[in-house]
Amino acid sequence: MLNFTVGPVMSSEQVLKIGGDQTPYFRNDEFSQVMFENEKLMKEFVYADDDSRVVFITGSGTAAMETTVMNVFNENDKVLFVKGGGVGQRFVDLCDVNEISYDEINLDFGCDITEEILDSYSGNGYTGFLVNICETSSGVYYNLDLISEFCQKNQIFLVVDAISSFLANPLNMTQQKIDVIITGSQKALACPPGISVIVLSQNALKRVENNKSKCMYFDLKNALKNAERGQTPFTPAVGILLQINARLNEIKSNGGVEVEINRIANLANDFRERISDLPFEIKTESLANSVTAVHCKNALEIVDKLKLDYGIWINPNGGELADNMFRVGHIGYLTIEDNDKLIEAFHDLEKRGIVHD
Ligand SMILES: *Cc1c(COP(=O)(O)O)cnc(C)c1O
Repeated sequence: MLNFTVGPVMSSEQVLKIGGDQTPYFRNDEFSQVMFENEKLMKEFVYADDDSRVVFITGSGTAAMETTVMNVFNENDKVLFVKGGGVGQRFVDLCDVNEISYDEINLDFGCDITEEILDSYSGNGYTGFLVNICETSSGVYYNLDLISEFCQKNQIFLVVDAISSFLANPLNMTQQKIDVIITGSQKALACPPGISVIVLSQNALKRVENNKSKCMYFDLKNALKNAERGQTPFTPAVGILLQINARLNEIKSNGGVEVEINRIANLANDFRERISDLPFEIKTESLANSVTAVHCKNALEIVDKLKLDYGIWINPNGGELADNMFRVGHIGYLTIEDNDKLIEAFHDLEKRGIVHD
């Protein structure tokens, strides 16, 4: 099996091996040391300030999104978010459930944000801005510098969902003045699903401190208090936290976050160059490194045949684009040789008349 979906993705040998081990007891110093190291490496990889903190939530990426919305905002806030695809909708739902008022910036599928669009929302009293910086459904990487400038100018609290782009596109929490960064275990972190991560700036920590928790399990005050001793309030996904530790250390020993980002960018660029002689089209503006949305004919059959005849998984699409688009992920334990196999399979499908104009 060769997995080019955008998550869960393929894991390294070392991460896989840990998945086969017995789960150790965790209310002890050994596990606390693992958690402290996880926090330290996460902060290093997003260029967070020394006084920022990291919380590991047991739950998929959306759990960290909801924890953030519930703990840093309240009914006095008015938030703005970017909605340009399937993932953007999630913040709408979260704000509805948590009774936080909001406005949406609606963008066409596959389009980036512009300064003009942002300017039209200036001075409207927004207190929070939420963005899925890589819109995983279209593969756009929104212009974070523009968003950051807009938030600084209007003194808006900035939350970046980097679930599919942490380790794939550069992110600098300090320079880009990001208040919260969210990521998850099953995307470029290349571990099984089950843990999501929230990095909180000092500004975010103040908001949490002054806010009243509306949920017991996802209470960030409690999580932060426990994290001071390298622990979590309740039993976490212990095995995945150990796998995350191995993976973060792997990246560190291979040269750090920049090396990993370049590796993924190379894979993405290699793939994009090599499909140029196939009847495929890339329409996304400002491409993220994590994923390529490919427009074509007969997408459903291509996805199906790749899986059944070649053992290769790519992402099908739902909705209107189901038969006209598929997505290929570049995150996880993939190599250029894996790209060779995928491209070869596409050419073979072209010979068989399944890939066609
Ligand atoms: C995958 C993803 C999520 C979270 O999805 P879960 O299924 O809850 O892990 C959120 N945002 C983005 C941008 C994603 O790619």
